[in-house]
Amino acid sequence: MSDIDIHSNLLKHDVLPTPQRIKVASVILDRPQHLSADQIMDRLIEKGSAVSKATVYNCLKLFCEKGLIKEINIDPSRKYYDSTTHAHHHFYHVQTGELTDIPQDKISIVGLPSLPDDTEQEGVEVLIRLRNKK
Ligand SMILES: [Zn+2]
Repeated sequence: MSDIDIHSNLLKHDVLPTPQRIKVASVILDRPQHLSADQIMDRLIEKGSAVSKATVYNCLKLFCEKGLIKEINIDPSRKYYDSTTHAHHHFYHVQTGELTDIPQDKISIVGLPSLPDDTEQEGVEVLIRLRNKK
């Protein structure tokens, strides 16, 4: 994604495109991926775009609120940011920490409970935890 595309994508989501937000967005929105805040920091350093950790966290929080990216909380010590925002499924390898997408049509879900009153289904997402065979 070019800087101009990122600029307009931020505006489309009601995010003021400051230089720092553009830097952070250019990493996470580069392609469909799952990155931790630390991985995003590392990529910014590799690109020579130094952004403070606090700014990275603030950007990611804002991007989540505005629907540009999605937060995936697997456990309290491992939080990922997903550039694919629609409901989808994941494999999560507990030993490597690797998170990968499972295409929507590869899982069919039956037997869901009826929903509580006054609610509607926003999405159903499956997380399959993996570990290496012993
Ligand atoms: Zn994903």
